[in-house]
Amino acid sequence: MASLPSQPDIDLPWYADGLNFTCQQSGHCCTGGPGYVWITLEEIHRLAQHLHLAPDEVIHEYCRNIGDRYSLNENRNAQGHYDCAFLTDEQPKSQNPRSLTVLHPRSICTIYPVRPLQCRTWPFWDGPLASKQAWNLAAQRCPGINQGKHYSRSQIESLRQATDWPPNPPTSAPDKP
Ligand code: SF4
Repeated sequence: MASLPSQPDIDLPWYADGLNFTCQQSGHCCTGGPGYVWITLEEIHRLAQHLHLAPDEVIHEYCRNIGDRYSLNENRNAQGHYDCAFLTDEQPKSQNPRSLTVLHPRSICTIYPVRPLQCRTWPFWDGPLASKQAWNLAAQRCPGINQGKHYSRSQIESLRQATDWPPNPPTSAPDKP
């Protein structure tokens, strides 16, 4: 008996073939319009340990209360954008006047090893994953999207649904832990 042609799986997400992303450390996902960088109490404890502070001090210095949750503070920069409190400009360490290579300052996260889950799973969030158009719109601000490392559908889903830090987060910048 002839077999029936297989039906297309209409439940497949648009990114069923996977997506590419490699963090370029642009810092663009840490600034922009006012927003929220959600941080859980457990993450506040991890951050406190990293900063050698008490959790209450971290909350007082770096967090704001939104309903029953916490978000990291933001600082308005010279361009009027809202920077995460932990975003800072890193100047090139040395300039060789004879070198033709132009070294640019870059924006870095000063708590990268203990950054919250939200930061660890960018750009595999509901917003950018909502459609190919939303993904490519996010790519206009994030130079890491559509570059480098390939993520399978199952890797994307597991990052999208993560409720705690993925071990050795695959979204880390190449030279970061
Ligand atoms: S915690 Fe770090 S990675 Fe997250 S938004 Fe702030 S600066 Fe960016």
